[in-house]
Amino acid sequence: MRSHDAPVVIIGAGIGGLTLALLLRRRGIAAEVLEQAAEPREVGAAVGLAANATRVLADLGLAGGLARASTEPSGAHLAAFRGWHPAVTEMIGAVPQSPRWGLFAQRPLACWSRGRVVLLGDAAHAMLPHQGQGANQTIEDAAVLAAELGAERGLTTGPGSAGRGDLAAALHRYTARRRVRTRQVQMLSWAASAELHLPDGPAARRRDARLPGVLARLAWIHGYDVLTSRPGDSGRASEWRP
Ligand SMILES: Cc1cc2nc3c(=O)[nH]c(=O)nc-3n(C[C@H](O)[C@H](O)[C@H](O)COP(=O)(O)OP(=O)(O)OC[C@H]3O[C@@H](n4cnc5c(N)ncnc54)[C@H](O)[C@@H]3O)c2cc1C
Repeated sequence: MRSHDAPVVIIGAGIGGLTLALLLRRRGIAAEVLEQAAEPREVGAAVGLAANATRVLADLGLAGGLARASTEPSGAHLAAFRGWHPAVTEMIGAVPQSPRWGLFAQRPLACWSRGRVVLLGDAAHAMLPHQGQGANQTIEDAAVLAAELGAERGLTTGPGSAGRGDLAAALHRYTARRRVRTRQVQMLSWAASAELHLPDGPAARRRDARLPGVLARLAWIHGYDVLTSRPGDSGRASEWRP
C-alpha cells in the first residue's frame, strides 16, 4: 500500500506507532507505518508495562504474547558484582543488562498538532524514566487517538474522505484528553528523579517515611482505564502535588 492509499500514515514503528496501527485497524481504519530503521532493534534492557497500558494490549488480544515475551533475569552480567551484598546482586539480577544511559527531559509542549499532523508518545511528552511510564503513557495516547479518529465517521471509508473539520475536532479532543495527564506524569517523573537520589539525611528519611503510601498516591496513574475513559475525563490526579 502506498502512503496516499491509507487515510492515516504513522511515522515510526515504535510502541506508539504500532499500537496505534493495530487499534485503528480494529476500527476499520487503514494505516501505513513508515519506519526509518532498516530492522527492529532492542534499545535498552526492557520496558516495564503497568496496568494502565497492559489493559489496552490485553484488549487487543496480546496478553498471551506479552506473557511469552516477558524476560527472565539473566545472570551473565552479575559477575562484575560477585561478592557484593545479596540485596545488590538481587537488584542487578532483576535487569538483563546494565548499561549507562543519558537521561533527557523535554519541556511539555503547548501544541501537539498542526493541520493534519499530530504527535503521540515520546514525540509529544518524552519524560524521565523514574515513574516507568513513557511507554505506558504512549500506549494510552494510542488508545485515545484511535478512539477519537474512529469517532469521525469519514475517516473509516477510505482515502481523502476525512473532512478537515472532523479531523481537527478529533485531534482537538485527543489533545484535550491527553495533555494534562501526560504533563502531570512528566512532572512526577522529574520530581521522583530528585527524590530517588537524595543523600542519606533528614530529607531521605522524610521520603522513606512516605513510601508506604506510594501505591495509593500513584493509583491515578496505574488504575486509570483509558479504554472506558470519555471526553472530559482527562485522567489527571485529583489532588495534584508533584
Ligand atoms: C532504557 C530505557 C528504558 C525504559 N523503560 C521504560 C519502562 O520501564 N516503562 C515505560 O513505560 N517506558 C520506558 N521507557 C520509555 C519508553 O521506551 C518510551 O517512552 C517509548 O518507547 C516511546 O514510544 P514511542 O513510540 O513514542 O517512541 P519510540 O519507541 O522512540 O519509537 C519511535 C520510532 O520512530 C522512528 N522514527 C523516528 N523518526 C523517524 C522518521 N523521521 N521517519 C521514520 N521513522 C522515524 C524511530 O526509529 C523509532 O522506531 C524506557 C526508555 C529507555 C530508553
